[in-house]
Amino acid sequence: MSRTMVAGNWKMNTTPTQGTALVKEVMNKVPNPPTKVVFGVPAIQLLAVQKLVSGHANYAVAAQNMHQEEKGAYTGETSAEMLVDAGIEYVILGHSERRDYDGEDDELINRKIIRALEAGLKPIYCCGEKLDIREANNQEVVVGKQIEQAFSSLSPEQVAQIVIAYEPVWAIGTGVTASKEQAQGMHDYIRRMIANQFGSEVAKGMTILYGGSVKPDNAEELFAEPDVDGGLVGGASLDAENFAAIIRAI
Ligand code: 13P
Repeated sequence: MSRTMVAGNWKMNTTPTQGTALVKEVMNKVPNPPTKVVFGVPAIQLLAVQKLVSGHANYAVAAQNMHQEEKGAYTGETSAEMLVDAGIEYVILGHSERRDYDGEDDELINRKIIRALEAGLKPIYCCGEKLDIREANNQEVVVGKQIEQAFSSLSPEQVAQIVIAYEPVWAIGTGVTASKEQAQGMHDYIRRMIANQFGSEVAKGMTILYGGSVKPDNAEELFAEPDVDGGLVGGASLDAENFAAIIRAI
């Protein structure tokens, strides 16, 4: 089975009206995508966008977050069961914006991953170093630790359900993209680490996405790297023409 995927993370952008129009436009431009395509949409749009993609084998929807508890008195939160019941296949967990603005750490993200997997949702787990770490050439140590903590106590079968998105924080929303060598180097490191901890079969099958200023003009060379299986796209996923071009770059 192919490991490739192009996922859009809309973050807190688009109204429901705009989001529906955007999904329709992308699906019109690329009716038969050569890869799995995932729309990571705001919570209020999950049901409507799921309805638009249902029946299309290569299109799916991701929530951008969920709560670590099963249910209960957590005002404003969304549970894994709610997402699964709504037909949602993926949930983005551990995005650097949630780490920075909402205080999420890998211990909490580990609980969310376990909850998601128990409910039957596939996590898209985001990891990545900040600029000072890259400048000190410590990215492997830092990202390695993130993954080790976030995947702690998981079985190989569980890890096989996870998509990893390597998103260097210095490349997110900055217009600065990791070079193809930088991306490939980290993806190779992550895959070897997964092989050591969870076995080579899991590592070989694992989808590892690159995220951070992916655009139509750099997608092709990034995706051509052997361990870059696709992208988690922020800004460029908000424009149908740009997102379609990135999908076609796989
Ligand atoms: P940009 O593509 O806007 O840099 O965002 C990347 C990202 O954070 C995807 O999750």
